[in-house]
Parts: sequence; structure tokens; C-alpha cells
Amino acid sequence: MRIDGATELLGLIATPIRHSRSPRMHDLALEHLGLPYVYLAFEVGAQELADAVSGLRALGARGFNVSMPNKVAVLDLLDDVDEAARLIGACNTVVNHDGVLTGYNTDGLGWTAALRENGVSVTGATVTIIGAGGASSAMVTQAALEGAARVRVVNRRDGFFDAALALASRVTAATGVPVTVGDLDDADGFVSAVGESSILANATGVGMKPLEGLSPLPVPAVDVLRPSLFVSDVVYEPAASALLLDARAAGCRTMNGLPMMLHQGAASFELFTGHAMPLDHVRAHLF
Ligand code: NAD
Repeated sequence: MRIDGATELLGLIATPIRHSRSPRMHDLALEHLGLPYVYLAFEVGAQELADAVSGLRALGARGFNVSMPNKVAVLDLLDDVDEAARLIGACNTVVNHDGVLTGYNTDGLGWTAALRENGVSVTGATVTIIGAGGASSAMVTQAALEGAARVRVVNRRDGFFDAALALASRVTAATGVPVTVGDLDDADGFVSAVGESSILANATGVGMKPLEGLSPLPVPAVDVLRPSLFVSDVVYEPAASALLLDARAAGCRTMNGLPMMLHQGAASFELFTGHAMPLDHVRAHLF
């Protein structure tokens, strides 16, 4: 693509940022479709955030992705926030609609789209999600927005636990879907939650460096994994975490974190450009 006077700006504001795959992902899609945008990574931390957002607004950027440490703080700088981002309390995508900056969160959308690609729907399903941080909040919220029967969040009693309780009541009030939070140390509670679920998701970094080789399950895998359970992991390095290896050995179908990452980017891309991301092309060149 040639840059000319009509080329518009897209980007990502986060720090650290040089490792991010988002610029390459979006550029591959933009180039393939011949769309008139450039997508750049900007090293922006908490200190620079307000200036960066007002600068992008002043420049008329079409939109930008937001990653750590800015996903929560950016909400106060926007004109409007969609329901998922409001419930989650974090935003990863901002679109400039004729000067009005609107925040979205596509992380949960990415997860449910990836599940759909595997023939699995959260609608009507009971889902158990291990973890209560940013990834989990987006997954819990999107599952409820798409009409899950029930969402069970399980986490250790660390600083994320109370935030999970607050999210659960917000999401239940907004959607009517029961979202409950259990202690990861409660082995019986975990076994019964997974027993009622058709989808089990790990939304913690347990399984990747520095916790590679570890499983997030609080009980032996054989106690909870059964062939009818679909097991998903946010981890994609390694491609098969200890959890996914155990799940495959138990006859479960599995999905690692790569399709979620790809589909959250695809959902942002569509919000920015109005075009579907050419997934096969991006997959073939990015992974
Ligand atoms: P976070 O810091 O917001 O949350 C971390 C969660 O992990 C918390 O619930 C915490 O209690 C739990 N946790 C941490 N260490 C633990 C341990 N030893 N045992 C049990 N629980 C533990 O992080 P996040 O932003 O939610 O990201 C979580 C993971 O998901 C990261 O590895 C991140 O790379 C990955 N992620 C993947 C995608 C994707 O698209 N595949 C998207 C977002 C995040």
C-alpha cells in the first residue's frame, strides 16, 4: 500500500509494546484488503496516557487499541463506552466516530468467536472459568451477554477475588445470568462446578513462563476432565499447556489462546474499518 493524503491512522498505546503482534496482524489485513490505514505501536504508559489520547483525538486518528497499563484508566478519557467495556471496567479498542471516542472491549468477543470456530457456543452453556483478572473479566462478561446459562468463576483468594465478586454482581444485574465466584482451594466446589459445565476455561497465566508445565487445576485432572468437556486456555506459548495436554489425554476437545488473540484483533479491525479481517491470510503469515 502507498501512503497518500487520505491515509488514516490506527494504532496501539501500551508499554511495553515492541513485542506486540498487533501491528503486524493489522498491517497484514490492511495490506491484503488494500485499505487506506496505517497501524503503529506507540509506547505510552500511565504518565503519557491523557496526552496521547487527546493527541490521537486532535489528529483525527480513526481508532486505536489499548493494552497494559492503560486499559482501565483510558475509560475516563472517552466520550462513550459500550456495555461490555463498561461491565468489564476495561477497554482494549477505541473508535473515533466523527470526533466522538467510543470504547469497546473485544477480548471476550475474541474468545466466543474462537469457540464458535470450534463449533462451541456459550449460549445456554454452563461455563467454569479459572482466573479473575483482565482476561477472565472479559470472558465472563461476554459469556453472560451471549446468554450463557450460568458462569462459575474460580480463583484463589488473592487481590483479584473481591474484584471478581463485584464483577459477578454487575454482570448478573445487567444480564440476568447467574455468575458466581468460588475459591480455587475448595476442591469439592471446583469438582461440582466443572461437573455441571460443558466448557472449562483457564484465564490465568498458569501454564506459561514462569509457570510453564504447571496446571491451574486444583485437583487431579482425572477428577474433572471428561470427554464431553470442551477445554480452553488463554495460554498459547507453549501451544499445548499442561492443562491442554491433560485435557487431550482425557479425550476432551481443546483450544489454546491463539484463536482468541486473533479474533479479538479481528473484532477491533472490523470496528475500525467496517471490514472483516481476512483470517486465513493473517493466520498463514502471522503464526
Ligand atoms: P491478570 O494479571 O489480570 O490476572 C491474572 C489471574 O491469574 C488472576 O485471576 C490471578 O489470581 C491468577 N493467578 C496468577 N497466578 C496464579 C497462580 N499461580 N495460581 C492460580 N491463579 C493465579 O492477567 P490477565 O490479563 O487476565 O492475563 C492472564 C493470562 O491470560 C496471561 O497469561 C495473558 O498472557 C493471557 N491472555 C491471553 C489472551 C489471549 O488472547 N489469548 C488475552 C488476554 C490475556
